[in-house]
Amino acid sequence: MNKYSEKEYEIFSRLFILKEFSEENIKKLCEINIGIVGIGGIGCPLSQYLVSSGIKKLTLVDGDSVEKNNLNRQILFGVNDIGKKKVNVAKKKLKLINSDCNIDIIDNNIDINNINSLAKCSIIVDAADDWKTSKFLNEYCLKNSINFLYASVIGHDLQIILFDNKNNKEHLCLNCIFPNKNDVDLPRCETVGISGISAGLAGLISAQKIINFSLNLSNERNILTVSDGKKINIENFIVKSKHECDLK
Ligand SMILES: [Zn+2]
Repeated sequence: MNKYSEKEYEIFSRLFILKEFSEENIKKLCEINIGIVGIGGIGCPLSQYLVSSGIKKLTLVDGDSVEKNNLNRQILFGVNDIGKKKVNVAKKKLKLINSDCNIDIIDNNIDINNINSLAKCSIIVDAADDWKTSKFLNEYCLKNSINFLYASVIGHDLQIILFDNKNNKEHLCLNCIFPNKNDVDLPRCETVGISGISAGLAGLISAQKIINFSLNLSNERNILTVSDGKKINIENFIVKSKHECDLK
């Protein structure tokens, strides 16, 4: 079983004195294994805050290299990283926060050939900004009873939901909420733009949801969180299963 070292207890000392971080919860935290698909505007702050919240096991999946136009929101990267593989840079930067965290990387886009590397994850996060990937991950997580967090930002608007595929008695999935076809032409960041601040907010809310859910700090089950980053209001909606969902 994994344990935090003395050095780690020092790094996380201000967190671990919070009353929510009982000995039992600290043990749980140490075992959480998060897969993040897409190390972009959401994946960067999310991975950073997960590592700085004591998460020790991460798998990062992204086939892209850093581009200049990423820098408004992908805060793990700087101008000197342009052209380098995102997952390599991200791993290096995250290790600077806690050198003892275990970070696996896949420097390819997620697909049928590499998805099983995420089978061991407690939660798989979709931060890929690609509808086909979202549908693919939703189905994979449903089929394999892996918890699934969907996070997306377009413009200033963010939406995040965590599906408890392990224990949910009633079916609920991404397809219940957005029953679009795979090839639907939805707006994407590269065409309509994206606020780096809203992406950051989405990363932070996702990180908090993961901690809340994993340590049972608050109910995240079936809650869709939406926000207009400009207005700084965050709203939670309870969502229900759709009778006619194809994946039911
Ligand atoms: Zn469904």
